[in-house]
Amino acid sequence: MILVLRSPQLLPAVIEVSTRLGLSYRVSSSQNGEQFLEINSDGSPLSPAFIGTELGAFGQVLGLQSKTPLLDRLPNDFSVSVSVPGAEPVIFQRWSQNPVWIAGPCSLDNAEMLRKNAAVLQGLGVRVLRGGAIKPRTSPHDYQGVGREGFRWLADIAHEFQMAAVSEALSEDDVEAALEYLDIVQVGARNMQNFALLKKLGLGQKPILLKRAPGATLLEWASAAEYILASGNSRVILCERGVRGLERELRYTLDLAGVAWMQTRFALPIVVDPSHATGTKQILGACAAAALALPAAGIMLETHPHPVEARSDALQALDMAEFAALTAKVSK
Ligand code: PEP
Ligand code: MN
Repeated sequence: MILVLRSPQLLPAVIEVSTRLGLSYRVSSSQNGEQFLEINSDGSPLSPAFIGTELGAFGQVLGLQSKTPLLDRLPNDFSVSVSVPGAEPVIFQRWSQNPVWIAGPCSLDNAEMLRKNAAVLQGLGVRVLRGGAIKPRTSPHDYQGVGREGFRWLADIAHEFQMAAVSEALSEDDVEAALEYLDIVQVGARNMQNFALLKKLGLGQKPILLKRAPGATLLEWASAAEYILASGNSRVILCERGVRGLERELRYTLDLAGVAWMQTRFALPIVVDPSHATGTKQILGACAAAALALPAAGIMLETHPHPVEARSDALQALDMAEFAALTAKVSK
């Protein structure tokens, strides 16, 4: 459970009571400066109700039932604002009438290709440039990416075109560089429950794009976000990228009903990624249009000036003309 302190001066007294009750705790503070204790009562013989009564005098006790007390108290109009040097900030908000477009290659290849990609994307209203520097690949023999130095040149090129940069931090070792250079740090689907990574990213204040694991339930996805909030960072954007269902014709199953439900239950903005969800170019427009009808907070698509040369996910990448046609059609 979480105890949000009425005043920081109460901290020593709360620690004394928690210690007396044999509870383990961790002190954190949120973005707006509130101090809170995460109380772990799992191994305690005391009931949550009793602990709640003992600590209630010190502030608000959350999460006696809910596993997502910090998500539960986000305001209804919660939004994540991403600053972009020399341009308007990019705003991600639930049910937004101005969905954010995120596009770019699956993996970063070289600066020239990325610049070509970015120049077209900027003209089409894309506000966030994506590109994987360190790639989570199913096979260790597949292309693994350019490495962490890619964060810097992705950001440089994104900023040159007044866009924000998003890329994936694959492990805890990548967090420092990711927080330094990127505007948004992506947690990939395979890492959704890498709790050490989530906790470390939560110690920073950069927005986090948290992808749903293909086998995760909606509440497991929400709990992963709660980890980031519990470390002190509430700037979380969720991303639906398909779950593993019974279908084999498509890469995964795009769970738009799950997105609709999450957006009624939690205030976090959700971006939909039809590229990884379907792996099928012909239906990306239909899926993007359906996501915009929810409406989702944004759409993420993979693009490449020469898809045949893409070093990963070449088959699902839209070339620039295809991407332009898609945006024109779904924005009508
Ligand atoms: C990606 O967006 O580059 C990616 C690897 O996606 P996912 O983690 O959803 O598979
Ligand atoms: Mn990809």
